[in-house]
Amino acid sequence: MKPDDMVVMNLEGKIVEGDYKPSVDLASHLELYKGFSDIEGVVHTHSHYATCFAQACRNIECMGTTHADFCWKDVPVTDILTDDEVREDYEKNIGLSIVRKVKESGRTEKECPAGLAANHGPFAWGETVEKAVENAVVLEEVAKMALNTLVLSEKNVMSQFLMEKHFRRKHGEKAYYGQ
Ligand SMILES: [Zn+2]
Repeated sequence: MKPDDMVVMNLEGKIVEGDYKPSVDLASHLELYKGFSDIEGVVHTHSHYATCFAQACRNIECMGTTHADFCWKDVPVTDILTDDEVREDYEKNIGLSIVRKVKESGRTEKECPAGLAANHGPFAWGETVEKAVENAVVLEEVAKMALNTLVLSEKNVMSQFLMEKHFRRKHGEKAYYGQ
């Protein structure tokens, strides 16, 4: 597949440019763009470790500063889709379930830059396409660390205070993090 083979779509799901059919996951991506007004990139992968958490229907808890630099609190997993949600508008319902989970947690798309579709895999987003790719890569590393941490310690021993400190020094109005 070459860059020229990519299909350009609008938010209504109509083809703007290109000769091929769009990805089957288009409807999931559209719901994320509609639900999160500040993003311009969505990346969906089946990266190994993040997908393991999605398959286990487990949030990725924040257990260290690598995670806290990236995401405020856990990376949430969606509720398991009902048979009706799978039967009708399946891909759209995946996107809706992710947006719902992030909003229910009271976080913005910047505070929570990724989510896990239950039984399926991770979605990451960002204010640019490049940032969304970076977030997908960081998510996978965070998931790998989390799984290995759970092997060593079943209990999450990171304090909420340290988690807050790390996220807020890098993101938001009072950020002071350098390069
Ligand atoms: Zn997928």
